[in-house]
Amino acid sequence: MSTHLTAGQRALLEAALQQRQQQLDRQLAEHLGGQSRVEHTRELVQQDVREVAQREEEREIDMAISDLETRELGVVSAALRRLKSGDYGRCTDCDGEIPFDRLKAEPWALRCVACESARERDPRQGL
Ligand SMILES: [Zn+2]
Repeated sequence: MSTHLTAGQRALLEAALQQRQQQLDRQLAEHLGGQSRVEHTRELVQQDVREVAQREEEREIDMAISDLETRELGVVSAALRRLKSGDYGRCTDCDGEIPFDRLKAEPWALRCVACESARERDPRQGL
């Protein structure tokens, strides 16, 4: 059980995570929804080549953003699960406590500052 956080602090972090989760949900729906396949095909027929290329590019950007959002949503959901299971607020690398100030800025943080910057220095550890 992670006990270095008070009930009030946990409630605050949980609210922040839920808010982020809802925000991501909305953004994802926007980026994934948008245009139906039929509309897309009709546009391909109507538009000139340059416009089509631009459209395709926009769609690719949308897809890339959706990917990022999906990943972040996973991270946020995982943090909410940890909050419920009691593993929340502990560094996954050194098992140290992650200070509330860090969690306040980044409620989904998995690592303490020391471990996080160690990973950033050595990207091979990142996977
Ligand atoms: Zn650590």
